[in-house]
Amino acid sequence: STYYNKNTILYLNGQFVKASEANIDLYSQSMHYGYAVFEGIRSYRTASGETRIFKPAEHYERLQRSAMAMNMPYSWGVEELTDATYKVLEANHLQDAYIRPLVFAPANMSFSLNKESYLTIQVWAMEPFLGENLLNVMGSSFQRPNPKGFHIEAKASGHYVNSILASQEAKSKGFDEALLTDMNGFIAEGPGANVFFEKDGRLFTPPAGNILPGITRATVLELCHHMGIEVEQKLFTAEALKGSDAAFFCGTAAEVIGWKSFDGVPFAKNWNDSLGRKIQLAYKALVTESITEPVSA
Ligand code: PMP
Repeated sequence: STYYNKNTILYLNGQFVKASEANIDLYSQSMHYGYAVFEGIRSYRTASGETRIFKPAEHYERLQRSAMAMNMPYSWGVEELTDATYKVLEANHLQDAYIRPLVFAPANMSFSLNKESYLTIQVWAMEPFLGENLLNVMGSSFQRPNPKGFHIEAKASGHYVNSILASQEAKSKGFDEALLTDMNGFIAEGPGANVFFEKDGRLFTPPAGNILPGITRATVLELCHHMGIEVEQKLFTAEALKGSDAAFFCGTAAEVIGWKSFDGVPFAKNWNDSLGRKIQLAYKALVTESITEPVSA
């Protein structure tokens, strides 16, 4: 497996154990119904050579909110989990890593509440999530889950069946990734990333409500603020996106990754001249702690 080998260590319910020896209960709502919550976090080797987890508190707070939204018992503290994560990284000799905490349910095949939850933290070496080339993105035939049927702002495992279907559809048609609309047909997000587009020197992104409001999205908004880039959060259609100058996805795994085309229509602006490219560089510098001063656009 590219994710673990016989030496890999993971964190499971307060203990550091070998991945190859860790067990889960197959009689779990998590396995059968997708009733679990998770996070996607990254650590980086910084410019000074240290290992730094990016925004661990934001991620572990979201994990708790996701668990609460799903009525899952949750008793872990941010510091406790951040400490455990650094220990798992060290045990696996990883600096540039993807970190995957998962909260899952004990044996129970009914739809009832559980008295406890289990938690695991897995880490693996980070490979580019969507590659490093500009993306050819397809408008998906799938919509994001209806917020009236799911707590869409929670990072719940079951929601990701939708992501898998959309991503597989795009790849089967020769695209790199999908872009999904919400249930009203407005642009929402990718299977695992938020979207921004540039038009006439400003950026646009869908508002919170029908998307997972990403931690990277929040970071991009902060960077834009520092860099003097105007951003408007509003609902927009695929047509507006097609008429735009440039676009990018952002997410913990994806970081900031530019688009080459949408539904086969290339963007007019060269990525290297786009606002997204400036943000991509600023983001990289931020996560690797290689700048002290915010860059200006
Ligand atoms: N939307 C979806 C559906 C996602 O899975 C992710 C990745 N967690 C994001 C957006 C981006 O969120 P973040 O920046 O917090 O990783």
